Amino acid sequence: MLNGKIAIVTGSGSGIGKAIADKLSKNGATVVIAEFLDEQGKKAEKEIKNSLFIKCDVSSESDVKNLIGSVSDRFGRVDIIVNNAGLQYISKVEDFPLEKWNQLIGIMLTGAFLLIKYAVPIMKKGNWGRIINISSAHGKEASPWKAAYVSAKHGIIGLTKVVAKELAEFNITANSICPGYVLTPLVQKQITDLAKQYNIGEDEVPSKVLLKDQPIKSLVSVDEVAELALYLASDKSKHITAQSLSIDGGWTAH
Ligand code: NAD
Repeated sequence: MLNGKIAIVTGSGSGIGKAIADKLSKNGATVVIAEFLDEQGKKAEKEIKNSLFIKCDVSSESDVKNLIGSVSDRFGRVDIIVNNAGLQYISKVEDFPLEKWNQLIGIMLTGAFLLIKYAVPIMKKGNWGRIINISSAHGKEASPWKAAYVSAKHGIIGLTKVVAKELAEFNITANSICPGYVLTPLVQKQITDLAKQYNIGEDEVPSKVLLKDQPIKSLVSVDEVAELALYLASDKSKHITAQSLSIDGGWTAH
């Protein structure tokens, strides 16, 4: 389905990004693992067929320039980018450290902007492209104590719509995926923290805390998110652009 395509997936040393990289590779793409943790990046490169690890901190303009330059020199094209790298930080707004605010916005919003900025000129030359941004149910809803995360995830939906309109004439689509809670290391850490905070067992956290506003009372799997990313990366979705597609068990329905 994606034979001959070159895909860059950020933060693909773990969790959702790794599942997406694996799915795109199994469907014919050559995948660049753009990850800032060496060990995770190298492990993913070993495990995922037709993949190449390039160390990259997406919040660093020089790293992103180097990433796109290396991919372009080596393959002569960039067809698909998946902006997935992310992290969480939880604090009351009045205690939220500016440093953490800047880090989260830098990785999840500025990082996506940088990837898009430097990949688009190459995509335009190929007259085809797919930009997939991993937002969140928190791109549509708020939760307390997540000022930076919710702001970055709302922001990326706006960025997605802008570039979708700018790039439509070049056969480049841009969409956001908005998952509910997916069991990955990022969420496991929250489960551990929330169990302490609410003084309940870790096994009770999903139903009593995380999924209390979600009609389907189970966590989304990384494979479900990867399947949606594969569809958005393919030609089958060519008229889907500027959208933010929820995969959240009904959480954000009103
Ligand atoms: P994860 O912690 O398993 O993986 C995140 C990856 O991003 C890690 O490999 C990490 O090293 C990498 N990363 C972090 N900062 C980076 C940087 N500056 N440059 C390059 N790589 C960096 O997390 P996950 O749960 O798989 O989350 C992936 C994305 O999905 C995030 O954007 C997250 O906000 C989003 N998301 C997750 C959930 C969930 O429930 N897990 C729900 C909705 C959205």
